[in-house]
Order: sequence, then C-alpha cells, then structure tokens
Amino acid sequence: MRAEPLIRMRIRVEQDVFVARQLGREVAREVGLEAQDQTRLATAVSEVGRLLLTAGRDTDVAFVALASGVPTLQVEMAHQMPGDADRLKAQLTQVRRLVDTMEVTHGEPGTVVRMSRRLPMGAPALSDGRMDEIRNRLSSHVPGTPFDELSVQNQQLIVALNEVRAQRDDLARLNAELEETNRGVMALYHQLSDELEETNRGVVALYAELDEKSVQLRAASEAKSRFLANVSHELRAPVTAIIGLGRLLTDESSDDLTEEQRRQVELIRGSASDLLTLVNDLLDLAKAEAGRVEPHWSEVDLKAVFGQLRGTLRPLATRPEVEFVVEEPQVPTLRSDEVLLAQVLRNLLTNAIKFTAEGSVRLSVVPAGDDVRFAVADTGAGIPPELHERIFEEFYQVPGSKALSGKGTGLGLPYARRLVGILGGALHVSSAPGQGSTFTVSLPVNP
Ligand code: ADP
Repeated sequence: MRAEPLIRMRIRVEQDVFVARQLGREVAREVGLEAQDQTRLATAVSEVGRLLLTAGRDTDVAFVALASGVPTLQVEMAHQMPGDADRLKAQLTQVRRLVDTMEVTHGEPGTVVRMSRRLPMGAPALSDGRMDEIRNRLSSHVPGTPFDELSVQNQQLIVALNEVRAQRDDLARLNAELEETNRGVMALYHQLSDELEETNRGVVALYAELDEKSVQLRAASEAKSRFLANVSHELRAPVTAIIGLGRLLTDESSDDLTEEQRRQVELIRGSASDLLTLVNDLLDLAKAEAGRVEPHWSEVDLKAVFGQLRGTLRPLATRPEVEFVVEEPQVPTLRSDEVLLAQVLRNLLTNAIKFTAEGSVRLSVVPAGDDVRFAVADTGAGIPPELHERIFEEFYQVPGSKALSGKGTGLGLPYARRLVGILGGALHVSSAPGQGSTFTVSLPVNP
C-alpha cells in the first residue's frame, strides 16, 4: 500500500522551484531531520526541480514519510515528459551525494526521480496521529518570496562556511599533532633499531665465540680419545706378556718355586689381569667415543640373543638366593646391531648380578610405541637418585657399593650408554636405595 504523502505540490514556473525548496526544508524539519540534513534535502529538491523545469512541462512533487522499517523521508518528483534519462542521471551526480538513495526511472508517462533520506535515531516516532498533524501544519504553510528564500540561503551559507572553517582549523591542528607523533615514532624506531643492531652484533659475536669454543672442545675430546686409544693399545701387549710370563713361571714344567714366590707371582698375574680388563674397557670406550664403532645393521632375532645371554650369564649367577630370569621376548625381531646390543645387555646384566645379594635379576623386552624397550631389573642395593647421572661418568662408582663378584673399572655404564646412542636409542636408570634398580634401553623400531 502506498503511503499517503505529507504534502504535494507542482512546479510549473521558476518561482515554484523556490517554493519546492522551502517546502522541502519545512517537511524535513517537521519529520525530525537535523538542520544540515534539512538544507541537504531542500537543496536536492530545488536542484532536481530546476533541472526538470528546463525540460518543459510540469513536475509533481510528493513528500512521503515511511514509518515502517527504518523511518525515512522520501521525495518523489515526476515529470510528465519522457526526457533524456541518461543525461539527467549525469547531471544529478552531485545531487546524489546530498541524499541516502536516488533512483531515476524513465518510461510512461515520463521521468521519475525518487530520493530518500533516513531519519535520525532520536527523531520522534511517525505515528498516524503525528503524520496528520504534520499534514495540517504543512497545508497551512505560506510560501515566502524568492527574496526570503535568498536570505535563508545566505544564512545557511554563512553557517556552512563557518563550519568549514572550523573543520579546516581542526584538520590543521590534527595534522600538526600527527606530524609530532610521527616524529616521536620515528625517533623511537631509530632508537629501537640501533639497540637491535647493537644486540645483534653482540649475539653474533657470542655465537662466533661459542662456535670457536665448541671446535676447541671437540678437538680436546678427540685428542683425549686418541690418547686413550693409543695408550691402552700400547699397554695391551706388555700386560698380556706379563700375564703369559706369570703363567709360565707357575707352570708344572718350570723350575719349582718356593711357596712365597708362587704366591707373589700369582699376585702379579692377578694384578696384570685386572689391568688388562681396564685397558680393554678403556680401548672400547675410546673407540666408541672417537666414532670408530660402526654398527652393522641387520634383522636381529631377539629370541636367539636372549637365549645366548641366558647361557653365558647363568654361570655367573651362582648365588642360590638370586633368581636369574631371562623372559621370553615380547618382540620377535628388531633392526639393530646384534653384537653391540648383546654387549649392552650383557654389561647391564653383569652389573645387576654383581650388585644383587638376594631376590632376582630379570631381563625382558616389550614394544613401546615406536620403540622397543629392554629392561634389566634387579632387587639389589639400589642407587640414590642424585647419583643416577653420575654412574654414567667414566670411572665413577657409587661410594660404598660393593660388587659381590668380580671387580669393576667404572667404565661399563658410560660405554653402554655410548653404544645405545650409536644404536639410536637411550639408556636410563630408575632406582632407589634398598629398592633395586631397573636399567631401561629404548631402541627405535626404525633406527
Ligand atoms: P663397574 O665396572 O664399577 O660396574 P659401571 O660403569 O658398570 O662400572 O657402574 C658404575 C657404578 O654404578 C658401579 O660401580 C655401581 O656403584 C653402580 N651400579 C651399576 N649397576 C648397578 C646395579 N645394578 N645396582 C647397583 N649399583 C649399580
């Protein structure tokens, strides 16, 4: 349903354009548009009226207030002769900016220009009663002369000019402030980038120093390994010779020795044997540290490895109070180096047997995600938590710990950890005094 206009009028002659302008402002004021919007709408109406007037024939103007949805004032200006709509549209580009929407249709009976402006949020509601009141007031509106209109326009122009000047001043002030802020930001930026550059230089120098230190460290570590390897290698021959000579001296076929001489030769042989073990261990560790241990990867049958360990270590686990158990492997095969793996497990099992007075020593293997986890668990003396890392240091032995069988060099665990590293895994211990120890070897399924 078309809403009933608030007022209609017809533009026939030039003077009517002034009347339309006045009426436009009046209607805009009545429906609650703000002062500036009143002028905008009035200007738009008079401009469209002027353009349509030059095309000849009358123009009907209708002011309609739309209350439903967003309250809007709509002006419809219908000219009875179909004119050149494209030309009109081009002429109206400036006017279009004065309103929210403008639509130009062109057809029978002529050209229609429809403009609208939304009412502000605070405008009084457009009830039917209020619209009737507005209609009454507008119908009794007496149009002023073009001179009146000119003076109103002049007033508005002065207000507008004042506003423009105030805005220009504001803009200049804002620009000055912005420039000031920009200068501050630039200064800060320069300061920050200087500081950053300084810091960067420091970091680069630090890295260079670190690099140099790590090269030195690597060189020192290599020198140590080389020294150990050479010394232990050189020591092996004479020590082996001492053992051989000792055996020869105590041999049946040799000249008889006195009881005291035999005892002393046995002492020498024993010490030389210990020394040989130490030399061999050192040589192994030095080789591993120097990266000279190359793993030979193959599919390792864990059942066979476990069987072999069971066979070779059972003779060591002689104490009846200790149960020696090698469980059935829960993982059938593993890609690894069989010799190195067996060496690590033998080392851990030997330690467990050495340090367990009663209870059990147990070897097992289970799958654990992408890893295979070997565990050597004993019920022996246990190791205090603060020493869990120290026992992996060369020559370190837990103070007061007494091996129940055999002697140690303190090189077994560091060597085992090296080998596990070479196999791509990790060796850890969990233990507490009086609660036994569990050494875990985690190896990747796909090294
Ligand atoms: P060692 O030749 O002395 O056995 P290791 O490097 O193998 O050298 O072990 C270092 C020390 O760690 C041992 O001397 C012992 O004090 C402690 N240790 C190793 N394994 C165990 C274990 N299963 N139970 C208790 N202590 C252990």
